[in-house]
Amino acid sequence: MSSRTKRAAAKDSLADLKTGLTYDDVLLIPRFSKVRSRHEVSTRSQLTSKIDINIPIVSANMDTVTEVDMAVAIAREGGIGIIHRFMGLEEQAQQVQRVKRMESIIIENPYSLPLGASVGEVRKMMRDKNVGGILITNAEGGLEGIATTRDLRFSTDTKTPVSEVMTKRKDLVVAKWGQTTDQARKIMEETKIEKLPLLDSKGRLRGLVTAKDILKRMQFPNATKDSKGRLRVGAAVGVRGDFLERAKELAKSDVDVLVLDIAHGHSAYAIDAIRAIKKQLPEIDLIAGNVATPEGTADLIKAGADSIKVGVGSGSICITRIVTGSGVPQLTAIAECSKVAKDQGVTLIADGGIRNSGDITKSFVAGADTVMVGSLLAGTDESPGEIVFRGSHRYKVTRGMASMAARRDQLAREGKLDEKIEGGMPIENDLSDYVPEGVEAIVPYKGGAVSVIRQLEGGLRSGMSYCGASTLKELKSNGRFIRITDVGLVESRPHDVITDSL
Ligand code: 5GP
Repeated sequence: MSSRTKRAAAKDSLADLKTGLTYDDVLLIPRFSKVRSRHEVSTRSQLTSKIDINIPIVSANMDTVTEVDMAVAIAREGGIGIIHRFMGLEEQAQQVQRVKRMESIIIENPYSLPLGASVGEVRKMMRDKNVGGILITNAEGGLEGIATTRDLRFSTDTKTPVSEVMTKRKDLVVAKWGQTTDQARKIMEETKIEKLPLLDSKGRLRGLVTAKDILKRMQFPNATKDSKGRLRVGAAVGVRGDFLERAKELAKSDVDVLVLDIAHGHSAYAIDAIRAIKKQLPEIDLIAGNVATPEGTADLIKAGADSIKVGVGSGSICITRIVTGSGVPQLTAIAECSKVAKDQGVTLIADGGIRNSGDITKSFVAGADTVMVGSLLAGTDESPGEIVFRGSHRYKVTRGMASMAARRDQLAREGKLDEKIEGGMPIENDLSDYVPEGVEAIVPYKGGAVSVIRQLEGGLRSGMSYCGASTLKELKSNGRFIRITDVGLVESRPHDVITDSL
C-alpha cells in the first residue's frame, strides 16, 4: 500500500468509527407491565455463579467507600461490599473477620479468656472486640462460666478475678455443639436467655449463639449470607507485591470473593495474577477487571476469572480518559463485554459512573448482572472518613484510588514517603513522576447508607416495572433502549423550575 493509500485508509477508518454510548445517551422504552406493585419484583441476581445476592449492588473497593461498616450495612440489605486493599494485609484480613463475625448465627470459637483472667482483662476484650460477654474456660477448654456486662457492672476493682463475679457453669443453660439454628433458637425462647454456649461431648466450648444475632436475622431477611449464616463479604487484592500472600490470608479469614483490582485489567500483569490466585485458591471466586472490551473479557475469563468487572474511565473520580485518552463509554462497554461473558457463563459487574437508579436499570438491560457503586455511597455514615463542612453544608471526602492523595497516603503507610536522601537528609518524595488517574473530591453528606441503598433498589424495582419485568432476567430480555439527543436529556431532567440539582 502506498503511503497515500495508507493515509486515505486511516481517514476512512476514522470516518467509519463506531459510536460508544453511555447512560445519558439512552432511555428505556416503557412497555406493557403486569407488575402491580414494585414489591412484587425480584431483584435477585448472581455476583458469581456460586454467590447470589438479593440486591445487585456492590460497594466499591475504595478507601473512602468500603470498610467494615459499609460491608455490614450493604450485606444486611442484600448486596455485598468489597473491602479495599489500601491497608496492611493483616488489617484487611481482620476487617473481613469482623464482618464474618458480625451476625453469624452460630459463632465458632467465640471469644474466651482463661479462668485466671481479671475483670480488667475481660473488660478490655469486650471493648476491643465490641462484644457484650466473654466466655471463661479452664486449661482443657471446658466452659467454667460467662462474664457479661451485667456481671461486671458493680466490680470497681479491675484486678478482681473474673471467677468471683462471672455467672458460673452450673447456673448456665448450655446446648450441644451440632444444634441447628432453629433448635438453638427454641431453647433460647423457652429459657429467655441471651447467650447459649455450645459444648462438645467433653464439655469443651465450641460455639455460641446470641439472641442479638437471631433478632438481626429476623430484622434483615434479605441479608447476603453464607451457608453458616454469616454475612458475605469480598476483598480486593492487587497484581503485584504481596498480592498472593494477601489473597491467602483473606481466604483464611473466610472471605467470600476476591476482587483483582487493576485499572487496566487487559494486561499481562492481570492475567498472570489471575492464574496465580486461581492455582493457589481454586475454591474462592475471583472477580477480575477492569476491562472495557470483548477481547479483554475473553482473556480474563480464559485465565480463570469467575466474574468480569467492566469500566475503564467511567468512575466519578476518574480522569483516566483525560490523562490517557483511553476508555469506552460505559453502556457500550457493558453491552459488548456481556456478550462474551454470557457465552462463557460468567457474570459481569458494571463498575463506575452510576449516578442514579435509572443508570442501574440501564446497566442490566445492557447485560450486567450486578453494579458496583463508589461515590454514591461515599457520603454516608458507613463510609470511612469524617464529615467536613463547607459553609453550613456537610460533605464527605471521596477520592480515586489512583489519585495523588491516595498515592501519597499509600507511600506514607509503607514508610516510603521519605526514602529519598538529599545532602544526607531524608526528604519527602515529591511524587512528581506519579501520573494520577483519579481526583480527590467531596460529596454531599447523606446520612445512613441504608436509605441510599433503598432508594437505589426502589428505583430499580420501578424501572423494572416500566420495562414490564418482574425479574432481572426478564428485564434483560424485555428492555429496549432508545437513543436520545442532548435536548431529550434536558427534557429528562427537572427543567424550568428551581430545584436542587439531581
Ligand atoms: P463511581 O461509582 O464513583 O462512579 O465509580 C467507582 C469506580 O471508579 C471504582 O469501583 C473503580 O473502578 C473506579 N476508580 C476508583 N478510583 C479510581 C481512580 O483513581 N482512577 C480510575 N480510573 N478509576 C477509579
